[in-house]
Amino acid sequence: MILPTTTVGSFPKPGYLVRARAKYYQGELSKDDLWELEKRATEEVIELQEDVGLDILVDGEMYRGDMVTFFAENMEGFRISGLVRSYGNRYYRKPIVVGRVKRLRPITVGYFTFAQSLTSKPLKGMLTGPYTMAEWSFNEYYGSKEDLVMDLAEAVSREAKELEEAGAKWIQIDEPAISTRPEEIELAIRALGAVTSGLRAKTVTHICYGEFEKIYPKLLELPVDQIDLEMANSNYDLLGLFRVHPFTKEIGLGVIDVHSHLIETKEEVKEGIKKALGVLSPQQITVDPDCGLKTRTWEESKAKLQVMVEATKEVREELEGRLKR
Ligand SMILES: [Zn+2]
Repeated sequence: MILPTTTVGSFPKPGYLVRARAKYYQGELSKDDLWELEKRATEEVIELQEDVGLDILVDGEMYRGDMVTFFAENMEGFRISGLVRSYGNRYYRKPIVVGRVKRLRPITVGYFTFAQSLTSKPLKGMLTGPYTMAEWSFNEYYGSKEDLVMDLAEAVSREAKELEEAGAKWIQIDEPAISTRPEEIELAIRALGAVTSGLRAKTVTHICYGEFEKIYPKLLELPVDQIDLEMANSNYDLLGLFRVHPFTKEIGLGVIDVHSHLIETKEEVKEGIKKALGVLSPQQITVDPDCGLKTRTWEESKAKLQVMVEATKEVREELEGRLKR
């Protein structure tokens, strides 16, 4: 099928889970009780995605706080700081590297297996990439950033292989930090290569935030099948770059602005996909929102995805009609 639909990863956490996580961190709730609620929230996320009619599902990341801290908490070699301020008013616990980084046990495999058991559609395995893990932590142990990044790559690679063994047909390795330091892209490419080499699953990396002009077309050397990019938020400006240097991989085409409360219209989304089809082939494109949906409400997330799926379906039918004639 052309133009399959998916999402980038996160969904808003329901109120009962936000409260339960706070209790857990204050020592007032056990890990098992938290897990019961995470399972309930995951069931709701899967149900929402089935209702909307997405083709490739995600588990919604109900068990994660921050995308880097979550993995650091579950590896050896990290200590987690108190709350640190990041962008604007967002606070998170920053990981500090205090020893050799190692994966001790499966980190996401149990969550993946549970979520996949709830649906017959393919579910993406979701990981944070080694470069972003290193970039968003304090390094107080390694002599060089490169050594830290490559040890993280080894850890993430083991997790990816176990996700594949558990049945993941798609594995997404998020590297949002890549676009913020163009001078280190070679290292990011090498580290991601260490993660994806030998995998048979389709590999995706999600990148956002930065100045793409500075890392394109170099970006195309990332050793993954698909690069997932935000498009709607920047009015599809990147397509101009693709006109100069053709985009040679599959693309996750972000057609929903995750920073806006406003629900896109079907026409807007169709227009965006069609703009992209002016420079990309239908076989290259998977349609999704610009980024994770965790900052939107549940209702906004569902409404936005609904519009996205309907718009994509109409473009798909138009394309298939044209092929048949
Ligand atoms: Zn993003």
